[in-house]
Amino acid sequence: MGEGTEPALRLSGVVRRYREGDGHLEILRGVDLAIRPGEMVALVAPSGAGKSTLLHVAGLLERPDGGEVTIGGRATAGLGDPERTRLRREEIGFVYQFHYLLPEFSALENVVIPQMIRGLSRRQARDRAAELLSFLGLKERLVHRPAELSGGEQQRVAIARAVANAPRLLLADEPTGNLDPQTSSHVFATLISLVRASGLAALVATHNLELAGRMDRRVTLQDGRAVELA
Ligand code: ADP
Repeated sequence: MGEGTEPALRLSGVVRRYREGDGHLEILRGVDLAIRPGEMVALVAPSGAGKSTLLHVAGLLERPDGGEVTIGGRATAGLGDPERTRLRREEIGFVYQFHYLLPEFSALENVVIPQMIRGLSRRQARDRAAELLSFLGLKERLVHRPAELSGGEQQRVAIARAVANAPRLLLADEPTGNLDPQTSSHVFATLISLVRASGLAALVATHNLELAGRMDRRVTLQDGRAVELA
């Protein structure tokens, strides 16, 4: 398979179980899933089905108990923790239901900081942050602190921060779950245009079937396995 067609994320036979009393609770029982660059996949399943667990394993935050997670063609099962951390920082962006922005920093600085940690100059980081925030409709909000922003604006800053280092893969866990329907729809539209413009692959857990309908594919978890929905 050529470099260009390599999935951004591939899960093969992924198993994850948690200890429960004397036994184990097997949450993921052999998940197979591939997401190509530029593709947006909705993860739709009832609470407790294992969506967050799947995102944590795909994001290299947890190790699976079996199977393989491949990021941009790079198999991760055999990697040590430092290498997994490096891959996570460079290749994966995360968005959560709550924004977790640093309250004492401006919108711009919240997007600058991860890039400086990565080694960019302040100037390069500021240019990219301003460009990203403008793309997301926040040009007039660069110097605002999170408390001075609306919920939808905060979440758009969190999206900009997640993609600041140009990851290959965006993982989002109910990214608009804390917003009213209209704001949620708007934030989601900006997320879609960002994914389309950047060629990023995205896996987005959501309860919102209308939002799921706007993505390229819908996947659910059934008995611990990924199943494509029509
Ligand atoms: P979802 O995101 O679909 O609501 P989760 O992935 O959060 O589901 O959880 C799936 C199941 O795994 C739940 O029953 C939850 O209680 C259990 N679980 C999740 N994390 C842990 C953990 N660290 N230890 C034990 N059980 C867990």
